[in-house]
Amino acid sequence: MNYVILIFSLLLIFVSTACQNNANTGSTKRISSEAVKILSEQDIISISSQACNEMDHRATIATNNHALNQRLNKIVNTLPNNINNRNINYKVYLNTEPNAWSTANGCIRVNSGLMKLLTDNELQAVLAHEQGHIALKHAIKSFRQAPYIEITDKANEIVIMVKQEIAQQYEVEADEYALNLLLKEKIDPIGLINMLSKMPIHASEYPTAHPSNLHRMNNILDKLKNK
Ligand SMILES: [Zn+2]
Repeated sequence: MNYVILIFSLLLIFVSTACQNNANTGSTKRISSEAVKILSEQDIISISSQACNEMDHRATIATNNHALNQRLNKIVNTLPNNINNRNINYKVYLNTEPNAWSTANGCIRVNSGLMKLLTDNELQAVLAHEQGHIALKHAIKSFRQAPYIEITDKANEIVIMVKQEIAQQYEVEADEYALNLLLKEKIDPIGLINMLSKMPIHASEYPTAHPSNLHRMNNILDKLKNK
């Protein structure tokens, strides 16, 4: 019964683990699993789009001519810009926490703290991993499998409970998608291993839902051997 809580379909860093009792205060609206199940994929994409806009609104975004934004654009151009007929849209947040995340509607956001930590090849691996979450519809599946979803009025936050083992399985699946994508684009896949070796075990003050980086690195090396 281990659950992780996703906020904003945030798939790289999770904010909490285990069975938490979230106080259902007056400012929080809880959507039951029955109600969640009847949401269409389009409904979930609309919610994700609103959540991404809200996150952008709260963040400090690097301007178009900011060096980090120009660097990200160059890296982005080496990868597909359309997944499942949806254009991918990227922004750099000026935030020292080494983090990146994606939402179902095609937002990929990368913190400046992560860009400063990683080489271009390692960032290609991160973006390919995030594209994997979008292509494999992990956020949409997370919505569907959640025992309930909370929307807090105050911060306009969406809290989704996801079983920890499922969240960890998604990480491994996104790594494997990234590996295949990098090979297809003739990009050195070593960035996947190097990026994981540099990532802090806990990139935030909260426990992460990612399987251990060592486990993910071994899985990638295994898959590479069979290519
Ligand atoms: Zn991930």
